Amino acid sequence: MAKAKEKAKKTGKKSGLATDLELRIGFGWDSHAFKAGIPLLIGSVKLPYDKGLGGHSDGDVLLHAITDALLGAIAGPDIGTLFPPSDPQWKGADSVVFLKEALKRVTAAGYAVENLDSTLILNAPKIGPHAATIRARVAGLLAISGNCVGLKAKTPEGLNNDNAAVAHVVVLLRKRSAKPRSR
Ligand SMILES: [Zn+2]
Repeated sequence: MAKAKEKAKKTGKKSGLATDLELRIGFGWDSHAFKAGIPLLIGSVKLPYDKGLGGHSDGDVLLHAITDALLGAIAGPDIGTLFPPSDPQWKGADSVVFLKEALKRVTAAGYAVENLDSTLILNAPKIGPHAATIRARVAGLLAISGNCVGLKAKTPEGLNNDNAAVAHVVVLLRKRSAKPRSR
């Protein structure tokens, strides 16, 4: 019995997740089209603009990409599977709910977020003046320090998608029982 348990621990077969990995990387991507007359939320920060991001929930493209990156890192189901756009209960939902669920699953899998990097691609508004606020908000949601959240913004040169916002996110998780390397 003990031998089988040990073997399961080594292969990660018990949970279906290779939990012996010290580090796990996750990638998330999302896009939403701009729509007039709705609030613009990016990283749970309301930005002053005459358009917002449409779609189900509150359209927070950055939080959606972070949520998928977290879920991907633990080989979990994606955001659309957990919170189907067809389900009316997620209409206009605060995307923090999605992020918190992903974080709960990361914790349950025995991992903690080390750092995150992101790139936003949108024509307007300018993200620069709000970048520090967004980074601090995301860091707060993930319970990591602000200098562990990267945020770059680019305009969609040559992509012909001026009416959409795109977010790319990578996260790095570390096994909670593993001792962090001295930095
Ligand atoms: Zn989305």
